[in-house]
Amino acid sequence: MENSHKGQCFCGAVKIEVTGDPMGMGYCHCVSCRSWASTRVHCWTAWPPQAVIVTKGQDNIGSFSKTENSDRRFCKTCGGNIMTLHPTMGMTDICAGTLPTLPFEPGLHTHYAETIQPMADGLAKFKDLPADFGGSGDMLPE
Ligand SMILES: [Zn+2]
Ligand SMILES: [Zn+2]
Repeated sequence: MENSHKGQCFCGAVKIEVTGDPMGMGYCHCVSCRSWASTRVHCWTAWPPQAVIVTKGQDNIGSFSKTENSDRRFCKTCGGNIMTLHPTMGMTDICAGTLPTLPFEPGLHTHYAETIQPMADGLAKFKDLPADFGGSGDMLPE
């Protein structure tokens, strides 16, 4: 398929494919993303839910929702994270590292109020989320 990218979990039992262009890409500094992705900053790519298909291992996917905003999907075999569904925002977030052929072109920082890793890169720093993602739209200095 044209303009599609493949990804998989840590062990390869689950494979996904995305088609088209992401709705956005950026860095999330929130404590949930940091904990879930086991990192200081989460590199996210946001997709329309229908752009993401599971091509292998649908039955091997577990899910966990700490809040109603985030339905986090992982591989039952290796525990590797696969994607996070954001049903209230109408998008699916895939870690940039899960899609190795997708050029990562971050455009903004989200939940910068929670940062433990300030990044002076000139990109917009949203206190929580942009208004069109359901946030306050408030900005913070670097
Ligand atoms: Zn796996
Ligand atoms: Zn986050």
